[in-house]
Amino acid sequence: MENNPIIATQPGLTIPVATLVGAGPGDPGLITMAGAAALARASVVIYDALANPQLLAYCASDTEFIYVGKRAGEHTLTQDQINALLVQKCRDVLANRDKCPGGVVRLKGGDPYVFGRGGEEGQVLAEAGIPFTVIPGITAGIAGPAYAGIPVTHRDCTSTVTFITGHQRDKQSGNALPADSEEEETLSVDYTALAKLGGTQVFYMGVKNLPEITRRLIAAGMDAQTPAAVVRMATHPDQQTVVGTLETIAAIAREAGIKAPAITIIGQVVSARPSLNWFENRPLFGQTILVTRTRQQAGEFGRRLELLGAKVIEAPTIEIVKPSDQTPALRAIRDMYEYDCVVFTSANGVWSTWEVMESLKLDARYFAASVAVIGPGTADALLTLGINPDVVSDDAIGEELAKELIRYFGPDTDVEINGEDEDEDDSADDTEMELIGKRFLLLRAEIARPSLVRLLRNAGAEVDDVPVYQTRMPKALPTEAIEAISSGTVDWITFTSTSTASNLHAMLPESLRDAVKKCNRLSIGPVTSKTMSELGWPPTIEAPHHDIPGMVEALMMASNRA
Ligand code: SAH
Repeated sequence: MENNPIIATQPGLTIPVATLVGAGPGDPGLITMAGAAALARASVVIYDALANPQLLAYCASDTEFIYVGKRAGEHTLTQDQINALLVQKCRDVLANRDKCPGGVVRLKGGDPYVFGRGGEEGQVLAEAGIPFTVIPGITAGIAGPAYAGIPVTHRDCTSTVTFITGHQRDKQSGNALPADSEEEETLSVDYTALAKLGGTQVFYMGVKNLPEITRRLIAAGMDAQTPAAVVRMATHPDQQTVVGTLETIAAIAREAGIKAPAITIIGQVVSARPSLNWFENRPLFGQTILVTRTRQQAGEFGRRLELLGAKVIEAPTIEIVKPSDQTPALRAIRDMYEYDCVVFTSANGVWSTWEVMESLKLDARYFAASVAVIGPGTADALLTLGINPDVVSDDAIGEELAKELIRYFGPDTDVEINGEDEDEDDSADDTEMELIGKRFLLLRAEIARPSLVRLLRNAGAEVDDVPVYQTRMPKALPTEAIEAISSGTVDWITFTSTSTASNLHAMLPESLRDAVKKCNRLSIGPVTSKTMSELGWPPTIEAPHHDIPGMVEALMMASNRA
């Protein structure tokens, strides 16, 4: 090995510079904790097509990302160029260790050493004298079958599992073909040995080789009736599985239009699929759902839908920004301890207040006043800050909250005695001045319903209604959302408020407004439905309960009927 001058002069000789990280098969949850931690520390990430780009979210904002996979119509780096790039980036990082304390992550689909040329990359690093570590990943040959309901071994039918690649060296150049290559390949697998071994055989390859592989296995004496399956885009929301026998699977996969990346499983274990097919049997599997809420809220709603199997596309039609004048918020929050009660009417109000508090270097201890909230989502947001609200009300208009506050702060706070009678009287306007002398701070949106303020003031309270955020329409929708709407691949569009409907309408060009008419549309409740109808997008269904769980329930019911 050539003596490397850079390494020789480095004091931190043993600190690994490069890490070969297995990204797992696609589902972003299937990276290891060590892999995610390596990404978080990385200065440079070199990744390819089979590594899910969502994993890059683990990285710091100044991480350099270099894509070296194949992309339609674009120049692809050869393996030699990738090797050279890897070594060069490691040297750059080494030379700038004080400025660049992170390392270089080579992020590869599945496991870096399973048919992914990770071994070659490791050798190149070793030859260059660059210290590196390897973080294994879940390989597609394990995850693909598991997500298709196929155990790779089973005590009743097999005690061996063999991983085989159909990818061999290119006939002309002798170079190995890229992982997702569909080009002509030579096959140099010992089919006689495989046919004799039996057990479970997992083939990594382009489906193009399937007729050849199955023909050779049958010719070598393997039972043509052996069950077989092909899993495409394994562990992704659009996973596709076809099942047949050794004899039929190639034709079945071709007819189903299965393309790379796909894994083929041959063996008796495939017959366990009907009882173990958990992934594709989830209630919303196969449904593409467009979520139009703000990015923060879409996350929470989207995760629920994803857990149920849906493919979720975020199309935020509302964004939360600072109020037009932040001075009142800064002043009120700084003086928060002077109030008897702080009131939040939305999770956005909580997050925006927290941002202001952070900017003022304040923390949760500053909440000396009682805290009241409208809605369980608002209460949850507050709880994540370690604050348990004293009063929680469910009613969006504010009347209920006003009553609860009167009950809580009023002269007779015994709810047992007061409760029922007070509930009968549904106009808090008529209350005596029970809140006299009490100071309330409402931290809400810039344009918020006036009723709560009026109700509290009528009860004698002193109320400061301070905007901590405003909502506005984003400039554009994400490209992925536009493409999904225009290609007709969206099954459902969800509308969680009137503004999600009117903003989506305003953000779409005329032709795509028509495309929305072809999608199913779910409305959260009657007010949103009315706006949707006025826009020419009447809801296909309206949620039975006017909240997120109600919308999830509606989608489940609809997909059950389909
Ligand atoms: N290192 C990777 C494999 C690289 S070879 C791993 O451990 O998984 C590339 C081949 O892996 C593809 O042609 C395909 O056969 C398989 N593959 C990778 N990801 C896949 C996925 N999500 N679904 C199906 N097959 C996949």
